[in-house]
Amino acid sequence: MHFADIRLAPVWGKVLTGQRLGRDDGVLLFETDDLLGVGRMADHAKSRREGDRVYFVINRYISPTNVCVLSCAFCGFARKPGQAGAFEYTIEDIVGMVKDEIREVHIVGGHHPDWPFEYYERIIAALHAARPDVQIKAFTAAEIDYFCRRWKLEPREVLNRLKAAGLQTMPGGGAEIFSARVAKLLKYTGKADAERWCEIHGLAHSLGIRTNATMLYGHIETLEERVDHLLRLREQQDASGGFLTFIPLPYQVGTTKLVPRPTPPADNLRTIAAARLLLDNFPHVEAYWVLLGEETASIALHFGADDVNGTLEDERVQHMAGAQTPAGLAREQLFRMIRDAGKIPVERDALYNVLQIWN
Ligand code: SF4
Repeated sequence: MHFADIRLAPVWGKVLTGQRLGRDDGVLLFETDDLLGVGRMADHAKSRREGDRVYFVINRYISPTNVCVLSCAFCGFARKPGQAGAFEYTIEDIVGMVKDEIREVHIVGGHHPDWPFEYYERIIAALHAARPDVQIKAFTAAEIDYFCRRWKLEPREVLNRLKAAGLQTMPGGGAEIFSARVAKLLKYTGKADAERWCEIHGLAHSLGIRTNATMLYGHIETLEERVDHLLRLREQQDASGGFLTFIPLPYQVGTTKLVPRPTPPADNLRTIAAARLLLDNFPHVEAYWVLLGEETASIALHFGADDVNGTLEDERVQHMAGAQTPAGLAREQLFRMIRDAGKIPVERDALYNVLQIWN
């Protein structure tokens, strides 16, 4: 392979021979001007694993509430109790949101000041009883940590009780950027830090609960902090092995206005590619179309991504923060996004069991 930046040649040598990339390699992937070189290497790494297959799931996002005790500076979703725009769904509301075709529900919400842990347990149990065929992916490690601190519970007990109620997997949110510096500046020190976030995911893996991982980027973090975040995830995956998918989340400017403009598409593509190359022990890397937009998500399928998430139906967390894409895509639109990239749509469930290959 020819590189415009010859410094990438040794990295390519490692990719070809299956050697693990180091921190300096990671920083180079983010710093080089040779974006296409980085993308081609990531495409090779993705194709070696999955060929032309690109996964999607028919899913439904549900936020039980946006009432939250915290005030993270990047968040355009949370509201204080009684504030305009605050919402709190009942268990009946939530169960009623899951239509027939849905394969997976994805549940994340605010850190509610008063809802007891048993309420969350009942949400999961009611959903599971009403729709035992639907896989339930619920609660970030930040939410699990909050339940523990608020209600004086151990994470093992929380996870065991949720699993007994019907929880099958956990989403990867709440990680933000693993940097104490950024956490302080963006006022999310009240949330699980890197060690706690990883501890909870490791514990979930040991209990047979598969999970995802995310990184919120494109605000005030440095490129080195992005690399360190990815390497910390890789280290945790080496230790506990239960991560399914890495999902990079570009910061949405919205009303929070931490930075003047959204992350450029080139940076989004580079971040996906760097993640595919550094996270050699993660099965999947996702191009989350809600945040990237359909066009960039489609191009990202040539930059190392092998998943576009799903139909979503309702996605309040990012839309209240300003994401521009339509809230929910029909299956046909997902097909177009995947086929425009010359790839094969593969319908999956939450655990990546293949349900149908749409040739
Ligand atoms: S990001 Fe999550 S924890 Fe932080 S304010 Fe928003 S809803 Fe609350």
